[in-house]
Amino acid sequence: MFRRVAIIGGGAAAATLISELLDRPSAQPLHLDWYTGTQEMARGVAYGTRSSRHLLNVRAASMSLFTGKPRGFLDYAQRGDSSVAGTDFLPRRLYGDYLEAEVRGTLARAADRGHDVQVKPFDVDALVPEKDGVTVIQGDESQRVDAAILAIGSLPPQPLGGVEPTVLDSGKYIVDPWRFLATAQFDPAPREVVVIGLGLTAADVLLELGAQWPQAHFIALSRHGKLPEAHMLDPSMPLDDGGELFEALRDAPDMRSWMRLMRESIADADDWRSVVDGLRPHLPTLWQELPTTERERFLRHVRWAWERVRHRMPPQVAETLAGLERDGRLLRRPGRMQHVRAEGDRLRVSVAPRGGRQPESLTADLVVQTVGLNTDVRRTKHALVRQLSTNGHVLADPLGLGLQAEPDGRLRYEGGAWPNFFAIGSMLRGTLWETTAIPEIRQQARSLAERIFAP
Ligand SMILES: Cc1cc2nc3c(=O)[nH]c(=O)nc-3n(C[C@H](O)[C@H](O)[C@H](O)COP(=O)(O)OP(=O)(O)OC[C@H]3O[C@@H](n4cnc5c(N)ncnc54)[C@H](O)[C@@H]3O)c2cc1C
Repeated sequence: MFRRVAIIGGGAAAATLISELLDRPSAQPLHLDWYTGTQEMARGVAYGTRSSRHLLNVRAASMSLFTGKPRGFLDYAQRGDSSVAGTDFLPRRLYGDYLEAEVRGTLARAADRGHDVQVKPFDVDALVPEKDGVTVIQGDESQRVDAAILAIGSLPPQPLGGVEPTVLDSGKYIVDPWRFLATAQFDPAPREVVVIGLGLTAADVLLELGAQWPQAHFIALSRHGKLPEAHMLDPSMPLDDGGELFEALRDAPDMRSWMRLMRESIADADDWRSVVDGLRPHLPTLWQELPTTERERFLRHVRWAWERVRHRMPPQVAETLAGLERDGRLLRRPGRMQHVRAEGDRLRVSVAPRGGRQPESLTADLVVQTVGLNTDVRRTKHALVRQLSTNGHVLADPLGLGLQAEPDGRLRYEGGAWPNFFAIGSMLRGTLWETTAIPEIRQQARSLAERIFAP
């Protein structure tokens, strides 16, 4: 058992792990240092939004923090509003309230259970893992712990190639859409906005800015110009074919066969969503067994289509975006941004349209980059991740998917896997692929807690 533990990160993954560790009835007393990075507790990027337009993309009944208490979030929401159903897509802000309430309750009970918990609202500057412990450095202080867990979510977004430095300096090219939405104050409000990327982050941006700026028009660019698919109002059950599709995919670990098998399964199913959802628990195994060349092929050719069907929008969100399109305020363009230049007090965006047609040029008052979670350790400016990587304490995933790790979360270095240095959540993408959402994170938290208390 590890008696002294540090958790680095103040978001949902850390909150889940802390509750798993401290609320166990039979847990041994633990000394826990929790470095939250901010004053705000448990919400992180996803659930820190103050906008009621931003909805969970998972139904309420599947968003409990704990594997052992599956109705956790639903019960919390129904205490506030008895008409809430398990199939509803609720505001992420409400989920943030739930997370914070859970974790504050856990912390309040911790001393009675014999735990010593220090909450430190600072960024950790450096970590030095060794075989028998990890040194945690924050400012002038350094602490030695038995084990450390990185729960830092994904990395800060980086500007895309082709964006000139003057554009970045102008304040009219937004690299971090979540930070921008939290503080967006523009006077006068922009009239023409270009959004680069068309996933769930773009949906957040279009919903919020579409409502705040009723005169604004949006052009959204992406490789295929398609929005994510929508959830059905009534959920279909994940396909249970006794593992047939999973085994067939496993036996043929190449993209061509996978595409064929998926098409065949979907043709036989009442609803394609049930096939995608039925595969979700098997994805870590499939990903781990996939050769690197096929992983590359997946990222290059299949990822965009997979993300559209796997990360779906709530139906209300799809309807609002369809309304923006009907009103002529949202135009989707299939194409690739080539570069962005400043032109007077506006921005000019050059686009290579899909199909090899002549490049086009758009002007905008504001450009918002919405290209999804960044997990590329090789190019990050995140100070702690750079320190760990530069000092050889961790290894970057070669395809830009977080840090190299074992399936149980132990981080790898040149000499093997650390026995006492773990990650949870997005940094495990290269190992597990499916690792960023709450249903996966709470499983990881439970396994980590068991490992920490293991004799
Ligand atoms: C906009 C958005 C919406 C989402 N919606 C859903 C959803 O509806 N359902 C779902 O299941 N999943 C959703 N997700 C997935 C989401 O990633 C997870 O649900 C969850 O929020 C991840 O939490 P995390 O703790 O891993 O990361 P984060 O919430 O990003 O938290 C990371 C924390 O680490 C801290 N940190 C970073 N560096 C340091 C350091 N050096 N020292 C100390 N602290 C540090 C940060 O300050 C932050 O507090 C969404 C994600 C996003 C971005």
